[in-house]
Amino acid sequence: MPNGSASRSGVRTALAGVLAFVALAAAGCAGTGAGGGPGPGPGTASPTRAADRGRVSVVYEESTVKPGDRRVVALIRDSRVLERTADWVNRTVALPHDLVVKVTAAVPPGVTDAVAQPDGRTIYLPPSFLTEVQEALTDVVKTVERPSLIPAADYDSDDLTVLATRFLLGHELGHALQRQLTLPNLGLEEDAADGFASFYTIGEAGPGPSLAAALLFDELARKEGELTLEGLASDHPVTQQRVFNFLCYLDGSDPGRFRGPLVETGYLPESRAWLCPQAWAMLDHGWWTQLQPHFTAAYRARGDAEQRKARERLAAETKAFAERIDEFRSGTRSGGTVG
Ligand SMILES: [Zn+2]
Repeated sequence: MPNGSASRSGVRTALAGVLAFVALAAAGCAGTGAGGGPGPGPGTASPTRAADRGRVSVVYEESTVKPGDRRVVALIRDSRVLERTADWVNRTVALPHDLVVKVTAAVPPGVTDAVAQPDGRTIYLPPSFLTEVQEALTDVVKTVERPSLIPAADYDSDDLTVLATRFLLGHELGHALQRQLTLPNLGLEEDAADGFASFYTIGEAGPGPSLAAALLFDELARKEGELTLEGLASDHPVTQQRVFNFLCYLDGSDPGRFRGPLVETGYLPESRAWLCPQAWAMLDHGWWTQLQPHFTAAYRARGDAEQRKARERLAAETKAFAERIDEFRSGTRSGGTVG
């Protein structure tokens, strides 16, 4: 999230185009880590797995964790945020293969941040990466005014780290689903992975993960410094752009609830906000439709209902968008780009 009034000028600086995602993203979460990655090893698959489908499991390889990373690993483990995400997939989607989420320092060569392997069967969350996330959010809590959507009791680096980790796992899960299910993709895979993180967390966990991720990426954008050619050429959108994408989907998911806290306080520009309800409706419909052929038998009736609801919402939002397009194009909201 862009910073509060005290440091919003930092956001403006970032918006001026001085970004380079070096520390945490770079080649990492593109699924481009070296090596094919091991499949689930002996003893890592869930003992309750159905015979005909893959399951998501979470493994903490404690013996690999360096002393300086043990606290954040304990924080994430105790929160059960990874397990809750795994449970959602296991209830909802019939995967063709097992997927193991590994919190481990024993990673393939060159892996420094969260990654999904190219076959979608392993996600690595290196403990040192989780520590970097918590350090960045520790700086956020010290320097950024608390967004009103985050309760005061939750505005600390532990809670924000748990929330942001749920979003980050959602991103990697987006890669894993695309790879395992061979989902048809009409845009960049990284955008789809970010979109899945928004789709999953907003639906299942409310605004917290999106807000924490926005705060985290806004802080990272500042730390990155000047935007380089490599940054612009990345398969990821530039970091500050991702902040606004996260906020836009959140706004669009419930403008009645989020428009005031996000737009009227200056976190999400009005020039973008008017596009967000339809953008969210497209994303929500897109993911429900992508997942529909893969619902578990137990989830199929509810999943089909969610897909129908999302389709109806998309139709309604598109109609509303069409009714206001002239006003948007010619009025004070001219900052948006249509066409
Ligand atoms: Zn990625």
